[in-house]
Amino acid sequence: MRSWNGWGDEAVHYPVPAGGADFLAQRVGPAHAGPDASLDACLASVPASPLAEHPLVSTDARERLWHARGQSLPDLIAMRSGQIDAFPDGVARPTSEAEVRALYDHARKIGARLIPWGGGTSVVGHVNPRRQDAPVITVDLGLLDRLVDLDEQSRLATFEAGVAGPSLEAQLAVKGYTLGHFPQSFEYSTLGGWIATRSSGQQSYHYGRIEDLFAGGRVETPVGTLDMPNLPATAAGPDLRQLILGSEGRLGIVTRASVRVRPIAQDESFHGIFFPDWQSGTDAVRTIAQAGIGVSMLRLSDPDETETQLALAGMPRVMPWVNRGLRLVGYGDTRCILMLGLTGDAAATADARSRAFEICRKQGGFVSGTLLGKKWEHNRFRAPYLRNTLWQAGYAIDTLETAVPWSGVHATATAVKTALRTGLQPVGERVHAFAHLSHLYPDGASIYTTYVFRRGSSAEETMERWRVLKGAASEAIVAHKGTISHQHGVGADHLPYLEAEKGVLGMQVLEAARKSLDPDGLLNPGKLLPA
Ligand SMILES: Cc1cc2nc3c(=O)[nH]c(=O)nc-3n(C[C@H](O)[C@H](O)[C@H](O)COP(=O)(O)OP(=O)(O)OC[C@H]3O[C@@H](n4cnc5c(N)ncnc54)[C@H](O)[C@@H]3O)c2cc1C
Repeated sequence: MRSWNGWGDEAVHYPVPAGGADFLAQRVGPAHAGPDASLDACLASVPASPLAEHPLVSTDARERLWHARGQSLPDLIAMRSGQIDAFPDGVARPTSEAEVRALYDHARKIGARLIPWGGGTSVVGHVNPRRQDAPVITVDLGLLDRLVDLDEQSRLATFEAGVAGPSLEAQLAVKGYTLGHFPQSFEYSTLGGWIATRSSGQQSYHYGRIEDLFAGGRVETPVGTLDMPNLPATAAGPDLRQLILGSEGRLGIVTRASVRVRPIAQDESFHGIFFPDWQSGTDAVRTIAQAGIGVSMLRLSDPDETETQLALAGMPRVMPWVNRGLRLVGYGDTRCILMLGLTGDAAATADARSRAFEICRKQGGFVSGTLLGKKWEHNRFRAPYLRNTLWQAGYAIDTLETAVPWSGVHATATAVKTALRTGLQPVGERVHAFAHLSHLYPDGASIYTTYVFRRGSSAEETMERWRVLKGAASEAIVAHKGTISHQHGVGADHLPYLEAEKGVLGMQVLEAARKSLDPDGLLNPGKLLPA
């Protein structure tokens, strides 16, 4: 069963690996956790719903609690402390496009707002109701999860858009295909959510980001149905698919989507490669990306992330040997690990492997084999569970991401980490911040930063620490002209920084699109756009 106040399945427990707590205590100080609010207390805090009964809308307190927040750190703080400032007044689970349209009619009639909900894995406040006068109905699309059509000749699969990652891949796998879109939230996030947030998977370097995979689909908007035909390419004016990508539930509800699929790859492996320092590592991955070598993943950790990863790797017997071996061959405290993925047919992966490894070796890279790669693969969707256990140990962990041209990568990464590391100095707290380049392009890279700090003595104090850190890091991103989000979207948390990227005119264009498709302001107020 899915956890109501943290990430993942309640049955999965990911303990802090041996030595991990000592490592964090050394980096930010020893921590002590307070008790969490109980499920009963949180259920009791759900107010009576003002909604009259309707066949499509449940006002059950459990449903409303489960749909109260997404998965950001502020969401975790709210759910764990029981200080949840707003709940949806009802939750609908439509089973057809006709029911989605009926929900618009109902919302218009009673003056309600609708929040589209895919898997609720947003980390930037996309799905949270605001405190406001109008009633809120969350529209959970999870029952719209079928494979509608598979055009094998065109390699196009059409799904209902509420399908979550595992179900989508399982429905394709029986026919020998894969989409290959694997965000770390794969367990719960949905096709519609990926489209609405312009999501990026761990192997997007090979399979493409969701905007490369989305071929067409259907959006039920408050003013009618928008059909976007599946076209391999078009010069027929601006591409409306690009308007829907990243629309964050403001322009309509994506009910079905066609995606470009491939036969399941014959061969896949992940390799750990060590570099003496960050400069040699970034030079290697930039060269690989600019040479267009067909690897499936490049994930280069900075020295702090490398050390953290090794400390939290959970291989207490193996790690001392790995460490000793690395030091013997001259890879000291500035070493960086690259996780390199190879996916495809055997001939293609062999070719990519030899070309990529040659570039790495030229930059001083030490190819360590697949042991660490296998560990990464095993934990690729489990790592988020660590957030729950770190919380219980008294630590808060959050991530943020941006993308910049190569010429700005070093300066931006340094500025973001410095902003985080110094952010809590005024209150005498240390912050452990580290980063990796997670998605690489010929012209630049995304920088994915993780930061860990001690929880405060109250929810308010923990929230205030987060607010200070998130604000400082976001300002650093804006000052370095990075995007405020490479993959997580805008939601409510990134909204104050969006105008710096889009400009006043750009924001007006988005608002005009919103007004044209949702003139009554029914959909997801306050996300992506201020109104
Ligand atoms: C542990 C963890 C790891 C993550 N890793 C990644 C990652 O690797 N890559 C990445 O890109 N993101 C990642 N994310 C962020 C998140 O998973 C993505 O933003 C994801 O695309 C959201 O999908 P969802 O179905 O959960 O959407 P939700 O969170 O339910 O909704 C997100 C937004 O999309 C809108 N929406 C959802 N479905 C529809 C629909 N059918 N029609 C219209 N609007 C809709 C909602 O209204 C909301 O504005 C991660 C999140 C977590 C918690």
